[in-house]
Amino acid sequence: MQNADYDLVIIGGGPAGLTAGLYAARARLNVVLIEKVAPGGQILITDWIENYPGFPQGLTGADLVDKMIEQVKQFDLNIELSEVVSMDLSGPVKKIQLTDRTITSLAVIIATGASPRKLGVPGEDTFYGRGLSSCATCDGPFFRNRVVAAVGGGDTAVQESMFLTKFAKKVYLIHRRDQLRAARILQERAKANDKIDFIWDSVVTNISGLTNVEKITIRNVKTDETSDLPVDGCFIWVGIVPNTEFIGNSVEVDASGFIVADAHMQTSLPGVFAAGDVRNTPLRQVASAVGDAAIAALSAEHYIENMK
Ligand code: NAP
Repeated sequence: MQNADYDLVIIGGGPAGLTAGLYAARARLNVVLIEKVAPGGQILITDWIENYPGFPQGLTGADLVDKMIEQVKQFDLNIELSEVVSMDLSGPVKKIQLTDRTITSLAVIIATGASPRKLGVPGEDTFYGRGLSSCATCDGPFFRNRVVAAVGGGDTAVQESMFLTKFAKKVYLIHRRDQLRAARILQERAKANDKIDFIWDSVVTNISGLTNVEKITIRNVKTDETSDLPVDGCFIWVGIVPNTEFIGNSVEVDASGFIVADAHMQTSLPGVFAAGDVRNTPLRQVASAVGDAAIAALSAEHYIENMK
């Protein structure tokens, strides 16, 4: 029998982490969920969720998080606000280094999600928080009756651009191809929205202004023509990168850095499981994240039983 502070440490407090916590707490495991900032993850910055079953009218990401937290509290899930700095997952007792101490556990579920990818163009770092953003829920209201640009062609760019039209008088949706990647239903709605103007086959090459964003430079990838577009703000939604800085080389990741896990959410290391957006999943939705997490918690429970 191995001795550790916990049976299970869950890292990350988004929908996946909270669901794993719910299942683990109900299984009466000695579990702690470690969250860096505040429980919720990416859905906290999602204005509207209408494809999570059980809420036929839809609801805000923040409301869904509140309900998930209320539910885990009913089962006394221990949530600690702290940051995982590094881990030693090699042995049967996993060592998790927090900012102030090391904790040990028999099993670990990594559910740290993903963050918005940067564009990597001049001006991007300078203007973040000064007209440049990746969060329409947080910053959209600042652009009432203003003109904004949104960059990207996936679900996030299209859905959040529509949310921006509640405030902005014009949204330029700039996409590097002439076809959107977003779900059909979102495409249809965006194309029917007369406040959205599409700029196809184009990439942003520069973001500039005096103190706040005043214009962006765009290059048409087909003609190579460059032009300046005056805007009051710019939102970047060009995909996501996994939140895995703290894992080092401990578990196998795919070419994009997402953690490789099998159908049982088992990673390349025994006792280490991954769930939600941080893993190499074909679908990144709240519904799939909570499904992953339920499986991960069950797999962890079986693993822990065998260890004891
Ligand atoms: P995504 O699906 O990976 O789409 C990223 C978009 O950005 C693509 O259109 C891509 O263009 C473009 N892009 C990537 N790099 C670029 C660059 N350097 N310059 C210009 N454009 C670039 O990312 P996402 O929209 O953030 O969505 C992430 C995940 O969350 C997806 O699985 C998505 O389905 C999910 N999600 C779902 C919902 C929903 O169900 N309502 C809402 C939000 C997010 P190409 O198309 O040319 O590759």
